[in-house]
Amino acid sequence: MSGVRGVAVLGSTGSIGRSTLAVIAEHPDRFRVTSHGANRNWQEVVEQAQRFAPDTVVLVDAAAAAQAREALRACGSRTRVESGADALSAAVSDASVDMVMAAIVGAAGLMPTLAGVRAGKRVLLANKEALVMTGRLLMDEVRAGGGELIPIDSEHNAIFQCMPPGYLPGEPARGVTKVILTASGGPFRTTPAADLAGMSPDQACAHPKWKMGRKISVDSATLMNKGLEVIEATLLFGLPEAQVDIVVHPQSIVHSLVQYADGSLLAQLGAPDMRTPIAQALAWPERISSGVQSLDLAVIGQLDFEPPDHRRFPGVELARSAARAGGTAPALLNAANEVAVQAFLDRRLNFTGITTVIDEVLQHVEVCAVRTLHDVLEADATARRFAAALIEPARGAIA
Ligand code: NDP
Repeated sequence: MSGVRGVAVLGSTGSIGRSTLAVIAEHPDRFRVTSHGANRNWQEVVEQAQRFAPDTVVLVDAAAAAQAREALRACGSRTRVESGADALSAAVSDASVDMVMAAIVGAAGLMPTLAGVRAGKRVLLANKEALVMTGRLLMDEVRAGGGELIPIDSEHNAIFQCMPPGYLPGEPARGVTKVILTASGGPFRTTPAADLAGMSPDQACAHPKWKMGRKISVDSATLMNKGLEVIEATLLFGLPEAQVDIVVHPQSIVHSLVQYADGSLLAQLGAPDMRTPIAQALAWPERISSGVQSLDLAVIGQLDFEPPDHRRFPGVELARSAARAGGTAPALLNAANEVAVQAFLDRRLNFTGITTVIDEVLQHVEVCAVRTLHDVLEADATARRFAAALIEPARGAIA
């Protein structure tokens, strides 16, 4: 890679967005923030714009954009402020952008991620929901757009690093018999089944190893995050779900493994800090510093592995069944999960109700073939309506 590369950071006020800006700040000779955006946290967007002087910032919320515009004008900044979801897509498609960090949470990240893919950029994919929803459609768009897709999820980034030379995204790699995702087990790894229903949003978000946004923290607590990651892995690495294993590894030091036909297991190890996969993906195929300390294995001493408990955490099996069903099933699963997690965070649904809602949606909403993006968006909307009706307090269906 030569010259300074333009980077658009979607979701710049989130956990991944901030870590991305932190890595970029260490390498002004390599990267320049051309644009960044968020939903409505205009104060942080303004601070970031003052520091990184991008050409454009986007706040989807119009009132927040107006506040940011005023604040940036007052301090003499030349950064343009745009608003609306379409402005995110326009910003990432600009010719000045070489790479897009797709780190908006949930389905809201789909359209700008797709815009980056269609414009042939290198897309650094943190927003796993966009891939789970669209499945092969997104992978086909990557090929058609002529760009690159590099996974940021620590597990998939680890697998990407352990893949054989010449591996093509979305295609099965020669000699690879399995990929093995590691799972920390989340904050409730040892919580008895009987206590799970009473767990609060703050308890669910208190992850023992990773500091993340609230939605993915809840996904980690239900293990639905691992379910979404199984679907993500099938698409990124061209494998059926049966060839994507999960092992619980509480220390979160081994980030995932690739099993080869000759009996070799290749693993990537590192501190649990997202700046490592972010730096890897920004610089690939080169290596740059991420600000993360190397591991001292003698100090760590011990690495533990155990099987996941599907009885207490049914999310992974729900995701596997959606992967096997194909079509719109993963989009239904994802939408139901987003609605249920938000209801849990708002204290309208208890913790175990999250997977109950997803199960109900998968059982009752028809799965269709995915031919176009429209099929995905329809499935997403239908599943959201169905899940919301289940949670609706007046109906009292699931508490
Ligand atoms: P956060 O909740 O910390 O941040 C979410 C970001 O998305 C914020 O910038 C937020 O803006 C923005 N956003 C939310 N809704 C919208 C919307 N409707 N339109 C535009 N922007 C929006 O999330 P994380 O950084 O934790 O996660 C981001 C993505 O990365 C998720 O898909 C997650 O699964 C994935 N990921 C995260 C990891 C982590 O360690 N955090 C690890 C692996 C994957 P605002 O602040 O204005 O609300």
